[in-house]
Parts: sequence; C-alpha cells; structure tokens
Amino acid sequence: MAEFDYDLFVIGAGSGGVRASRVAASLGARVAVAEESDLGGTCVNLGCVPKKLFVYAAHYRDDFEDAAGFGWTLGDRSFDWPSLLANKDREIARLNGIYRGLLVDAGVELIEAHARVCDAHTLEVGGRTVTAANILIATGSRPSLPDLPGIELALTSDQIFHLPELPRRIVVVGGGYIAVEFAGIFHALGVETTQLYRGPLFLRGFDDDVRNFLAAEMRARDLDLRFEANVGSIEKVAGGLRVALEDGSALETDAILYATGRVPKTRGIGLEEAGVALDAKGAVSVDAFSRTSVPSLWAIGDATDRINLTPVAIHEGTCVARTLFGGAEAKPDHTGVASAVFSQPPIGTVGPTEAAARERCGEIDVYRSTFRALKHTLTGREEKTLMKLIVDRASDRVLALHMVGADAGEIVQGFAVALKCGASKAQFDATIGIHPTAAEEFVTMRDPV
Ligand code: NDP
Repeated sequence: MAEFDYDLFVIGAGSGGVRASRVAASLGARVAVAEESDLGGTCVNLGCVPKKLFVYAAHYRDDFEDAAGFGWTLGDRSFDWPSLLANKDREIARLNGIYRGLLVDAGVELIEAHARVCDAHTLEVGGRTVTAANILIATGSRPSLPDLPGIELALTSDQIFHLPELPRRIVVVGGGYIAVEFAGIFHALGVETTQLYRGPLFLRGFDDDVRNFLAAEMRARDLDLRFEANVGSIEKVAGGLRVALEDGSALETDAILYATGRVPKTRGIGLEEAGVALDAKGAVSVDAFSRTSVPSLWAIGDATDRINLTPVAIHEGTCVARTLFGGAEAKPDHTGVASAVFSQPPIGTVGPTEAAARERCGEIDVYRSTFRALKHTLTGREEKTLMKLIVDRASDRVLALHMVGADAGEIVQGFAVALKCGASKAQFDATIGIHPTAAEEFVTMRDPV
C-alpha cells in the first residue's frame, strides 16, 4: 500500500472515527484522521455525555424531595446553572484531551482541519493534497429544523449546552429521544416546560405501553405535554417569544428548543462528486460491511443513518478496521441493540415492540408488571415502574424486554446480554432474583397478560 500516503484516512474524529483509527493503527495501518471541530464528536461535546451530566443535575430535585421521607431535613437549596455549565465544560475539555491522547498513543496522525474527498484515493485537507488506499467517512449528523416563520429564533441541541442563562419558560418541540430527555431535564431544573409533539403519541418506534406509561408519568409530574400540537410560527414579542400553534392557540415562552431529528453531515465533502451514492436524506449508502458504492470509500455512524447510537458507530468503525487490516471480513451486527432514553423516569429497551413482535412471530406471550418501587413507600412519591417481557411462544425465547423506571438503562444493559445469548423464558424463570431490587421483577413474572 506504500503507493499511498496512508493506508486509511478517516474523516471525523467522533466516537466511530476515533475507534476505527485506533483499531486500524493497532493492526499496523498508517492512519490519519481529520477533524475540524472538537475531538469526540457529538456524543462527547453536544450529546450523550453532557446530556447525561444534565440528567444527573436534574435528578437532584427528586432526591432532595425524597430525602424527607427517610428522616433528612435539608436547608435552603438553590440551583446555579452557570456552575453546572462550567463544571460540565471542564469535564468535556478533559475528555477532548483523552481522545487526543488515545490517537497520539495509537500512532494516528491527527489533522485538525476540514477534509474533502477529491476522488477514490485523494483528499484535500488543510491546504494539502494527500492520498489514501482507503477513506472512511465518519462525519456524523447535525440537527434538522423544519422551515417555518421564525424558525431562526429556535435553539437546537447544539446550542442548548451553552445557554448563558437558564430560561424561566421553555417550549420543546419534538417527540423523540432528544425532546423527551430535554423536556425532563428543564422541567426538573425548575423551568416551566411545555413539550409539543405533532402526532397522537410521542416516541414513535418504541413499545406502545412504554410510550403511554412515560406520557402518564411526565404528566403526573406536571410537565405540560401536548400531543397533536403543531407550531405554525414563532415571533419575538416584548418579554419573550410567541409560539403560534396551528389550532389557533399560542404560547409565550423565553426559549424554544427544536429536537425534530438529525440529518447526516455528508454534503460539501466531495462525496457525490467522487461518485459515492447517497440516499434521499443524504445518508451514505453502504453494504453490510459499511463499504460505499466506491470500493475504497467506507462509511459508518450517523453519516449512514442505520442505528444512530454511539456504541453502534464504534462497533461499525471497529468492523471496518478489522475488515481492512485484520485479515478477515467483519460484518457489523445490528441485531439486539439495547438503548435507553434518559427521560424522567428513564426508558430501557432491547428487542422489538409488542406490535412488531406480533407481526414478525405471530404467537407471542407478553408479561407485564407495573409496581411502585420500595423506595417510594417512604417518599410518598406515586411514581410507578413498568416492566415488560415479550416471549416467542413456539421457541420460548425472550424476544424483547422493555422498562420505564429508575435505572432502566443500567438494568436493561445486563439483560441485553441474556437476550443476545438467546435466553428462554424458562431460563429467566430459573434465575433467582436479587432481593429487594426492581430488576428481580424480570425473573419473577409468571403469568402472561
Ligand atoms: P428522533 O428522530 O428520535 O425524533 C425526532 C422527533 O421530531 C420525532 O418525534 C418526530 O416526529 C419529530 N419531528 C420530525 N420532524 C418534525 C417536524 N417537521 N415538525 C414537528 N416534529 C417533527 O430525533 P432526535 O432529534 O430526538 O434524536 C436524533 C437521534 O439521536 C435519535 O434518533 C437517536 O438515534 C439519537 N439519540 C440517542 C439518544 C440516546 O441513546 N439516549 C439521546 C439523543 C439522541 P415523528 O415521530 O412524527 O416523525
């Protein structure tokens, strides 16, 4: 491969790009990665990591309230948004440094500049032309906004992590992961929060019981959650923003956050000119090995719009590096991917929804349990937990597991391993629970609904 400057040139040092670079270098490849923004991509800088820190901050509201039931008396408490931002920024800067160190230690050349593909083996980066045997597109995605009057007044998740002041009121538009998570964060931090979703029930694609259960829990917390609500226009008025809805009503707010999906960042980097096929949404079309229509170009992560989750991008990046330099083709496995929504309370899920399982397998058994966690017998909080198992009747295999409740992400991660191993309901039943936990409910549900 010495006829090229590099064996692999990666565009984008987000989670997927960094992992692909490091694995390729560890397998002996000469690797460079180009990044024009902060190292670590969306997850580290404007997504998963700072969001989870905000979720922790938000949860103290419940924790302080709940403490009284256990005998604690707390003094005056107040929340300081600038302190949270400063502490969060310090942690993100530390992570940026760790990513840099990981690349350097792996022997990857980091080029902090915009890169553009010229042809199948040539790139322009930071004013120079370089060649590579293989090019990996790991450019991620960016928030997408609908076109309506006043949309320039809206914030996206890119700005929300650096808001100079916590607004008194906020409207959150959208019904996916980001909208649900941020509505919960702002509401818990004391911001008057209204979430607007255009359809009859938010979190499309999640199990219907989960969707209805979370909606009820959010409303029980007095979060103003509205369905069938469409924004017509946004305008600046004295003292804030006026959000006009299509049903003729209007809301006044201090800030409006749009979380209406993300689009792949694939334009302006020479892909189409180089003959790389993109789909209608701009996602790079790839085969099962993440290879594009140009054989020396590969693509992973949100740029390909498969399953847009950080661990999936990391897995895809690892597979590309192994396919190219590991001596055997490695195909990413997109089955049984667990995920969590860090709503309040959170969702954890792995496997198909009940409706999808019924359609795919026909005969299924559904086990469902709702209960009040032991902790809340003393806090007085009415919050409930939902757990659900979906079992294929013919094979007894557990197809899916869904949960809404405290620590759902932590709990479902463990069970995801069991599902990956093909665990049967009989094996769940044969597993002795840990008492008293919420998670034991998953191994003690005996009667299908
Ligand atoms: P999602 O695709 O999850 O949700 C977008 C939401 O916006 C949907 O409710 C959609 O409605 C709605 N919407 C789309 N267009 C419009 C419009 N023009 N007007 C009004 N509403 C609209 O996107 P997010 O932005 O929430 O998140 C992007 C991705 O990031 C997620 O899909 C996920 O993969 C990832 N992510 C993962 C997280 C995690 O793992 N915890 C956290 C955050 C993000 P409809 O359903 O009707 O189309």
